Amino acid sequence: MEKWPIGVFASIDAGLGVKLEVAHELGVPTIQLHAPEKSTRTQENADKFLAKLNEMGIRLTCVFGGFEGESYADIPTTQKTIGLVPEETRAARTAEMKEIADFAKILGCDVVALHLGFIPHSGIGDPLYDGVLNVTREICDHCQANGQSLHLETGQESADGLLQFLGDVDRNNLFVNFDPANMILYGTGEPIEALRKIGHFVKSVHCKDGTWADNPGEEWGREVPLGEGQVGMADYLKTLKEIGYFGPLTIEREIPQEPERQKAEIGGAIELLNRLKSEIL
Ligand code: MG
Repeated sequence: MEKWPIGVFASIDAGLGVKLEVAHELGVPTIQLHAPEKSTRTQENADKFLAKLNEMGIRLTCVFGGFEGESYADIPTTQKTIGLVPEETRAARTAEMKEIADFAKILGCDVVALHLGFIPHSGIGDPLYDGVLNVTREICDHCQANGQSLHLETGQESADGLLQFLGDVDRNNLFVNFDPANMILYGTGEPIEALRKIGHFVKSVHCKDGTWADNPGEEWGREVPLGEGQVGMADYLKTLKEIGYFGPLTIEREIPQEPERQKAEIGGAIELLNRLKSEIL
């Protein structure tokens, strides 16, 4: 299989992602898909979507779960609303994540992913930590029965915190979707160093860039076009090669779904990645 095929984070009707038509126009061969809204996760829509992907020659590599009520407005809001950490919504979201995994299965996709949220640093014995641990195992086991892996998006934990959690969950279909910019945006650590530490768990990646905040961890850093931030894309790709990752390079850009702007920005990112690929691969 081709090494480092380009990908984009795409969406049909939910979340920020590139429209399928834009991906196709730019000649992108793979996508990760933001899970469509519950009401549209039907067999009929799945068939239509698969036919469209087929026609466009695009391969679906991962379905990303997301939930109603999540907000990335600022770091405290993110802590309160994202993923499976908030207790009030945990059971319902766990059930929905399993439904999303089942929908991904209909789409023939063997990877599902999500932002778990801010995992507490406390460790085993703390009811909050144990609660998140248990639902993560539950979802892993559901995915296992579907023949799928579960990938956790990085950024909200330090590399060490994430390693501890992955070890505690102790499931062999649990991996990492590495997002270097998130480490900077959340202020959780230097991304290249983190990638070396958790490299053996990395089975999918985002290509995204960002700049550090003045007060990292207290306020957001800024997400910027690929190559204009502080990740260091050449170092990023060299490190991916070093850890033996040659899967899709999925571009993620958190801008509104305006086709012209998406085409220009994603087009620029593709150019950069193709140039670096030819130098580094
Ligand atoms: Mg990401």
